[in-house]
Amino acid sequence: MNPNDEKDIFQKIIDREIPAEILMEDGQCIVIRDINPGAPVHVLIIPKKNILRLAEVQESDVSILGSLLLMAQKFAQTHGLSKGFRVVINNGPDAGESVPHLHVHLLAGKPMIWPPC
Ligand code: AMP
Repeated sequence: MNPNDEKDIFQKIIDREIPAEILMEDGQCIVIRDINPGAPVHVLIIPKKNILRLAEVQESDVSILGSLLLMAQKFAQTHGLSKGFRVVINNGPDAGESVPHLHVHLLAGKPMIWPPC
């Protein structure tokens, strides 16, 4: 991040500058509850590294990408989501991205339809 740029809201949560319900954390990422849930279970898995979006990911970020999905699996296992869960990444305005800091949505707790749009 350019030092003159304002931190995005997820970076402020990672840095404990604003509150959030942090449900899980490891060296690479945090899991927070979404403030505007779209399903009974709706959490965000957010890398601590400030990557803008999937389109900006570098080859060197491959372990971070793996960690995000492994954290999704771990969250599902530890929260009893045996009936299923969905993971989503919104990349860019047409996809509904509203926070420019890479994050994976994990949704569960009700039957979902496909396609989602
Ligand atoms: P996206 O639209 O894919 O960029 O997803 C951003 C998500 O962040 C939305 O589902 C918002 O409800 C959620 N969100 C925004 N601000 C916060 C916050 N302070 N704490 C938790 N979730 C947030």
